[in-house]
Amino acid sequence: MTATSHGGDRPAVSAVVPCFNEAKNLFLLYRRLAKVLKQETGNHYEIVLVDDGSKDETWPHMLEIAKRDVNVVAVRLSRNHGHQLALSAGLKLCTGDRILIIDADLQDPPELLADMMALMDNGAQIVYGQRRRRAGETWFKRKSAALYYFLLERLADIAIPRDTGDFRLMSRRALDLLLAMPEQQRFIRGMVAWVGLDQRPLLYDRHPRHAGETKYTLVKMIGFAISGITSFSVTPLRIAAALGVFVSILAVLSLGHTIFSWLFLDTVSGWTSVMTGMLVLSGVQLLVLGIIGEYLGRVYVEVKKRPLFLIDTIVRNGDASAVQTAEIQHHAAEAVA
Ligand code: UDP
Ligand code: MG
Repeated sequence: MTATSHGGDRPAVSAVVPCFNEAKNLFLLYRRLAKVLKQETGNHYEIVLVDDGSKDETWPHMLEIAKRDVNVVAVRLSRNHGHQLALSAGLKLCTGDRILIIDADLQDPPELLADMMALMDNGAQIVYGQRRRRAGETWFKRKSAALYYFLLERLADIAIPRDTGDFRLMSRRALDLLLAMPEQQRFIRGMVAWVGLDQRPLLYDRHPRHAGETKYTLVKMIGFAISGITSFSVTPLRIAAALGVFVSILAVLSLGHTIFSWLFLDTVSGWTSVMTGMLVLSGVQLLVLGIIGEYLGRVYVEVKKRPLFLIDTIVRNGDASAVQTAEIQHHAAEAVA
């Protein structure tokens, strides 16, 4: 018997895979993933492949896989929405009792599912992969990641485990709690940490990408890093305020000095000190404004309440059918609800 999302019973495990230009990885990923899923669940599995607006052969490959295996659900988003939203779409649509989140590039070995399942049988609600080693990543990526986790640990209000990506197994209960969070700007690993419950790490070695290139350019990575910190902490705002207090104290002291000099000393010179003061003060002001602006921008994005993602097509049981506009809205609205 096959457990599909339309059947009465749920698949035991759903794997959710966001894919952006991953044509070269897709077949191998599918083969390895399906193999381990079969081992773990018999035929009670589901693989949700989300095409995040790829420009290469990813979508045709997905269709082919979905035609061959009725347990595969292929989802095409209306355009590129970014990793975290593509993942959110897959999480919204999957139906399994346990949910495996995995990247398409085989950096995270699907075979670890067996160990994750064992930990979950022992009572864990969330098992997250934690990297012991990062093969095939540049010196810069490793160092910047280390600096980032250092900052995140100090700034974020909750403990977000370090060296942890989105590779993890979650229970349906944990996923439903995650899906209940409506925010637009989704830093999923942090949101999962926020859920709490019994979370356990599984140490593993991260492999180099099987094929293709990382989709995270330096600029995207910095954006992701900033959003990770600002989603989980208002500490930067407090630092801004503290900076303001510190500079004000300096200003009062220097005002005293200025008045004293004006009254008792014969002063005309002082261009250097005026310039220095002005430059430092305007620098600090711009920095503080920038921090406030960052948070204001986030509020702006949230209040628009746009759908998180738009779906173009969903293929289930091998049937390709374009999603009607109403249905797109339905899914989108659900995703926000
Ligand atoms: N991805 C996506 N949309 C994007 C960028 C990436 O769905 O806009 C997917 C990508 O196909 C991969 C996963 O997200 O499956 C992680 O991306 P990547 O491997 O490029 O990130 P890295 O491992 O280098 O951090
Ligand atoms: Mg990768």
